[in-house]
Amino acid sequence: MQSAAALFREVGRPLSIEPITLAPPKPTEVLVRIAAVGLCRTDFHVMQGERRVAMRPMVLGHEAAGVVEATGSAVGGIAVGDHVVLTFIPGCGTCHWCRQGLHHLCAEGARITQGPQLDGTYRRQDRSGADVGAFCMIGGFAERTVVDQASVVVIDREIPLDLASLVACGVPAGVGAARHRARVQPGDSVLVVGCGGDGMNVVQGARLCGATTIIAADIVAAKLDWAREFGATHGVIAQGEKLTQAVLEITGGLGVRHAFVCIDPPTTLLPAFRATAKAGNVVVTALTPDTVKEIAVPPLELFVTQKAIMGAVYGFLSPRLQIPELLSLHRTGALKLRELITRTYRLEDINRGYADLQAGRNLRGVIVF
Ligand SMILES: [Zn+2]
Ligand SMILES: [Zn+2]
Repeated sequence: MQSAAALFREVGRPLSIEPITLAPPKPTEVLVRIAAVGLCRTDFHVMQGERRVAMRPMVLGHEAAGVVEATGSAVGGIAVGDHVVLTFIPGCGTCHWCRQGLHHLCAEGARITQGPQLDGTYRRQDRSGADVGAFCMIGGFAERTVVDQASVVVIDREIPLDLASLVACGVPAGVGAARHRARVQPGDSVLVVGCGGDGMNVVQGARLCGATTIIAADIVAAKLDWAREFGATHGVIAQGEKLTQAVLEITGGLGVRHAFVCIDPPTTLLPAFRATAKAGNVVVTALTPDTVKEIAVPPLELFVTQKAIMGAVYGFLSPRLQIPELLSLHRTGALKLRELITRTYRLEDINRGYADLQAGRNLRGVIVF
């Protein structure tokens, strides 16, 4: 089967729109027609060489929702016609973590930048016959994809698929960081540094948890306006020591109970750490380029202030639990999804979409097929 796809061929170059040949699904796999796929910053980090992948060409794209068109002979619980969200960490179901229901920690997650399918073989070829990888075992920047059932969550058919794509990455990453990693409590104070796709969802996650002080920090004023719509109570345009000072002023010198580092940890982690109250949490939700090997935090300061620095991937909860839960919260009006989509694009315009993201014009751009 032929499918148009956006291929990552060279670091620092635009994605290349080309036809690929897609092989039929193997026994545990499904063929999915992609309906919508979000332009997450992680794919851009790959395009810039800041998040290395093991091969090229590769179809990027990992925030996808679509409709099942065919299933392999051994697939269970997924049928043709089902509406699905694809998960960027497969839940293999058998590793130490998956057996405990912790699919976001699946041992196979270490392989999502490698390129092949979960079984180690390829389903995509370019015009020359060369194997094409699939980022996150998804390869969502394409009309169609073949993925293992471990990467599939079936959802309610009534949910528009453009909105469903958002709960594949950005929404669970942000909302879950507040709800499941930091476990924000009613009345808590929160700082969110970087109000892009992840950060905005931390803001609404903190609001859902009942935080009463939600400080949004960014260097783009428009994002602070957006953040207020999602629940921020304060906005700070500052970075470095000035950011720390501003947060300490707002919190009467104490600092916040929870700080979230949602952009560029090498420059924002220490100011966020210092804006956090004693015994508070600092949660890192953003990717740091492979080239950065360490971030300095004075150890004595860590010890005496008794703060916790923690990572959160995929909102620290199995996507199989979190995706249906988030869609239910949306249905009741508690979670904003439509408001996250700034612009939609056709696949051919994907590079313009990433230029808009880089220029700070998009909260979320989504490719709609
Ligand atoms: Zn993402
Ligand atoms: Zn697993």
